[in-house]
Amino acid sequence: MLDVIKEEVKLTHKYIGKNALDKKVMNAMAKVPRNEFVPESYREYAFDNGPLPIGHGQTISQPYIVALMTDLLQTEKDHVVLEVGTGSGYQTAILSLLCKHVYTIEYVPALADSAKARFERLGYKNISAITGNGYDGWPEHAPYDGIIVTAAASHIPKPLTDQLKPGGHMVIPVGPAHFYQELELVVKKDDGELDIKKILGVAFVPLKGEHAETEDETEQAESGREETNDENEET
Ligand code: SAH
Repeated sequence: MLDVIKEEVKLTHKYIGKNALDKKVMNAMAKVPRNEFVPESYREYAFDNGPLPIGHGQTISQPYIVALMTDLLQTEKDHVVLEVGTGSGYQTAILSLLCKHVYTIEYVPALADSAKARFERLGYKNISAITGNGYDGWPEHAPYDGIIVTAAASHIPKPLTDQLKPGGHMVIPVGPAHFYQELELVVKKDDGELDIKKILGVAFVPLKGEHAETEDETEQAESGREETNDENEET
């Protein structure tokens, strides 16, 4: 799996601006057993570089995308990070090896419960997981050094940027639900202003719940990376 990720990083270097991801991110990818995070019927595909269904219409993301998003966060050992969209808990587990603490929110109670049981069984101690609408963040533990959103948002949620520390990084797929989005890196400057950079085209399941604007059903949901197109529609 690691070799395939390395290959895809090289192939996409024009978008991501580098030929290799941070070594410590790749080490974390090597350590977390992805087979423990996918349903039994998909175990044989656990180390392929593709997304897989995890039930409830949701997916565990493609390993390359997990590695890239983690790299973009630029985590440090003493960082406290917020994740929106726990899903299987795979991305959470990767982050837990790189940070002091990970707070994670999942909208679907059954997924949150099974992720929590998985963290316990596999011995991940520096993770706190709750069921809720991650659009609002988790203000009690804010501000965060990093925020990662693993479901597609129609816009950058203000409650989340409010909960980001100055200097903090947020990684989020932004675009229409059920179509492809742009993976965006949001850096909060010391004066509070946001520096937003589009990285590459991705396809994520939509963010659910209030504020999420999921009414646009175009039935083209897919998980995986797609080519970036350069047309920016700005209003
Ligand atoms: N990081 C996950 C990817 C899960 S897919 C993994 O590694 O497996 C996205 C997840 O976001 C789904 O589980 C979905 O239920 C969840 N989600 C969607 N909208 C949400 C919201 N508003 N708040 C929290 N989680 C949400």
